[in-house]
Amino acid sequence: MGRSSDPGSLPLEPFRIKVVEAIACPTREEREAALASAGFNLFNLTSEQVYIDLLTDSGTSAMSDRQWAALMVGDETYAGSRNFAHFLEVVRDLTGFPHVIPAHQGRAAENLLFSTLARPGMIVPNNMHFDTTRAHVLRNGAEAVNLAIREAYDPESAHPFKGNMDVGKLDALLGSSAGKVPLVMMTLTNNTGGGQPVSLSNLRAVSESCRRHGVPLYLDMCRWAENAFFVREREEGQAGRSIREIGRDLFALADGATMSAKKDGLVNIGGFVATRDAALAERLKEALIVFEGFPTYGGLARRDLEAMAVGLLEATDLDYLAHRIAQVRFVAERLDAAGVPFLKPVGGHGIYLDVRRFLSHLPVEDFPGQALAIEIYREGGVRSVEVGSVMFGDGASPHNGDSPLELVRLAIPRRVYTVSHLAYAADAVVRVYERRASIRGVRMTHAPEHLRHFTARFAPK
Ligand SMILES: *Cc1c(COP(=O)(O)O)cnc(C)c1O
Repeated sequence: MGRSSDPGSLPLEPFRIKVVEAIACPTREEREAALASAGFNLFNLTSEQVYIDLLTDSGTSAMSDRQWAALMVGDETYAGSRNFAHFLEVVRDLTGFPHVIPAHQGRAAENLLFSTLARPGMIVPNNMHFDTTRAHVLRNGAEAVNLAIREAYDPESAHPFKGNMDVGKLDALLGSSAGKVPLVMMTLTNNTGGGQPVSLSNLRAVSESCRRHGVPLYLDMCRWAENAFFVREREEGQAGRSIREIGRDLFALADGATMSAKKDGLVNIGGFVATRDAALAERLKEALIVFEGFPTYGGLARRDLEAMAVGLLEATDLDYLAHRIAQVRFVAERLDAAGVPFLKPVGGHGIYLDVRRFLSHLPVEDFPGQALAIEIYREGGVRSVEVGSVMFGDGASPHNGDSPLELVRLAIPRRVYTVSHLAYAADAVVRVYERRASIRGVRMTHAPEHLRHFTARFAPK
């Protein structure tokens, strides 16, 4: 499933549609007015102002009939709900981590973990920090260091596992910073670097380095099933294995994980932190009770835990994953045919346009990624997101933190859009590419200190 073997064939949906939601494309005049009132920040648009929403794949999945049915068996008991027992059983079975602490989403799980473990003067290495992960590290006074392999920063490299960590650099860092690294994190897949997977063998080498230095290894496991799909497809000896088998190998190398189930949990809200460390689990639960709620619901309705338990398993289905990745590749091939530059090979959850090549005439001071995302919306009512100098800079700086990539992400929600929707969105990007020489930059008129992409405002230059 996923796609027939004929070249140019369409992604085959391993589902049919039972419920529909009306959407409409605003007119060009409406789109212009919407941009102006949004301060040219696409996060300020309303859903009525957007036709195809590729802002994020987070919490935007379509739930299955079984997940909707799961909501109906919600046991809204404050303490000891049977939905928690089911959720716990599923997460333990998938990951092998014995202690599982539910949280309302990924960053809540990150808050629990980093507020418990990170302190001023500490260093947290990651293949590449996601924006909220980085924010939690910094907020607790620690330093966030990205140690992805060199190829991760080369948009044209065809390396099959661009999410890998440079183990030599990790080893050196752990050697020179004894006692200062509370944990090492690996993000599966590497969202910031293009949804790129980490190989099982790289994770094994990272894990060995961590063990040698006595530092725990945690996974940011938001897209672990997509990562396992790539391992199955690309890594030697993995082809015949199931996603859950590969997952068990991945998790066996780690001491714990944070999860946003809004990704590979196929729910609209939910997450957790899991660990092998019983003493840490107790400290996390103390923080949980202050920030999120009692340990058997963690900031969620119990029915949400039930939908999450079902979704976490559905996300490991090979037909589902093959179709999802085929959708992403369908958009990529359509863009490629028109010469549109994007990060290759395409990752698991979206297409990352390479802004440096797309708008090569705009300097970083013009926030070219933001300018491109604005044009794609203006062209077709398609919402994307800048992942570059706006997202990773701080305050008024146009510079890119330590990420040398300037990207615009077209994230594909799970099980939501048809092939025609995706073709329409790709064609809008192609039309913008054809008129790229006339695109101007933007300036930032309101610059918040942290996570500024959510609330910054812009004006055309
Ligand atoms: C989405 C995401 C998070 C944060 O999860 P939320 O549910 O949005 O809070 C953390 N890490 C990665 C890699 C993500 O993609």
